[in-house]
Amino acid sequence: MTNIPTITLSNGTNIPALGFGVFQMSNEEAEQSVATALATGYRLIDTAASYQNEEAVGRGIQRSGVPRDEIFVTGKLWIADASYEKAKQAYQTSLEKLGLEYLDLYLLHQPYGDIFGAWKAFVELYEAGKVKAIGVSNFTGAKLANFVLTNRKVLGIETAPMVNQVETHPFNQEVEARKIMEEYGIVHEGWAPFAEGHHDIFTHAVLRNIAESHGKSIGQVVLRWDIQKGIVAIPKSVRKERIEENFDVFDFVLSDDEMAQIADLD
Ligand code: NDP
Repeated sequence: MTNIPTITLSNGTNIPALGFGVFQMSNEEAEQSVATALATGYRLIDTAASYQNEEAVGRGIQRSGVPRDEIFVTGKLWIADASYEKAKQAYQTSLEKLGLEYLDLYLLHQPYGDIFGAWKAFVELYEAGKVKAIGVSNFTGAKLANFVLTNRKVLGIETAPMVNQVETHPFNQEVEARKIMEEYGIVHEGWAPFAEGHHDIFTHAVLRNIAESHGKSIGQVVLRWDIQKGIVAIPKSVRKERIEENFDVFDFVLSDDEMAQIADLD
């Protein structure tokens, strides 16, 4: 089985370079596809309280038989719980639903609500060893810079997010936000790597030409582009053949010219 490459976060924790997302899945689909993904070799599962399938994801992890310490599980705090008082309780609730003792990564799902209070709670959970890494999601570059600097300079909290999970695909490459992420040592995680099927991504001529020249699918080319950019992509699928296809991306390399052609699609 392929050993997935990893990226080291600013605190030394390793995150798999490719993961599996479970948004918009029924409970049956989530349980089954998480088990299938882990059997295929994925080791990063991305869920959230708002997906309302944490229990099913937990059952999928159980069913897989893969040891807990070989899996990287990401959860997210929903806006309604974004405050110092509620964040710790919400974290505990997610752990109970997932049937886990800890998460590998806990993200502020959206830049709304009392994000500074919630972050204080996140840092306390992290410093107490209850979660391996903490981060944010859907922060633009400007919001991210403001968040890091306000925490550091005004609130005296030095711990910056280790990850920012944002919508990222060839048609939305987050070039500006990436500069801020690089400045503060924040790893770029990309949701909707296939643009949720929009932009005619699966028939796009540029992507199709590149795919054909490697004997690969367009989906595989897109995920390979993410890996070569150092973006942690978390594709979602409920179909076994696609779950396998999306993981079969470690045996080819896009050339500089092909990477440049994809850069032009932004
Ligand atoms: P994706 O870009 O991953 O697209 C998923 C769609 O593509 C599904 O319709 C799936 O259909 C289809 N698909 C998957 N693989 C292939 C393939 N090889 N060929 C053709 N079609 C394919 O969108 P998501 O929104 O699901 O994003 C991925 C993950 O990112 C989510 O599951 C979630 O974990 C995370 N996310 C985070 C957000 C945030 O706010 N932080 C917001 C949105 C998503 P099928 O299942 O039928 O195969």
